Amino acid sequence: MDEKITGLIDLQECDKLIMEVRTKKEQGPVRIRGLEEGLDLFERELEEKTGELVKYKQERRQVEKDVEDFDNRIERSKIKLANIKSNKEYQAATKEIDGLGVEKALLEDRIIEIMEKIEKLEEINVASRLEEGRLKEKYEKDRDEILKELEALDRDFKRLEKERARVCQTIDKRLIKKYDSLREHRGGLAISPVIKGVCQACNIGIPPQQFNELIRGNELMSCPNCTRLIYWGEDERFQKAAKKE
Ligand SMILES: [Zn+2]
Repeated sequence: MDEKITGLIDLQECDKLIMEVRTKKEQGPVRIRGLEEGLDLFERELEEKTGELVKYKQERRQVEKDVEDFDNRIERSKIKLANIKSNKEYQAATKEIDGLGVEKALLEDRIIEIMEKIEKLEEINVASRLEEGRLKEKYEKDRDEILKELEALDRDFKRLEKERARVCQTIDKRLIKKYDSLREHRGGLAISPVIKGVCQACNIGIPPQQFNELIRGNELMSCPNCTRLIYWGEDERFQKAAKKE
């Protein structure tokens, strides 16, 4: 009887550890994806800023060309002006030249605006490139750390599986079946101590007569409420078994 219970306690401890390792193993790739997403987001933002810079540089070239066009038109108008005879024509031509001058000045203002934007964006880009390098380095370091953790977890997992197989060899096959079924249907907990008459898994007191039977320990018993296998938790031998792992 006692060996049955200590065997099952060992098995449950082993399964608990296996579950913990499995959960951590599953979290590894999720954590790496999280790191990747953080880096991707930064790079997308950097690309956007670079795209903006390219757009402003293109606009600057276009506006500079437009200014050149205005210069040529003003030049041509000035030549025309030199050959004008009538006063009326002269006034019209001067007005045209003034008008071209105003439009050209607006374009020149726009060039100054664009150059200020370009300067600011270039500053931001230089800082962002530095930050990108730092983030990439940090990403690689964190990822390698997680990969190393995963390797260690794989080793733990293999060790625990072996341990489980070893423990199972000491337990009756039908009992293992019962244990596995309870574990599956009772949230991973198949066997529970009863302390001061209360099942520690479901927190319900068991009838005194059954508790006395449990203390006598002549047969393997189940909690009348949650149906889990139970043992007397105040028994020192079982306490040692539960704490062993
Ligand atoms: Zn119970």
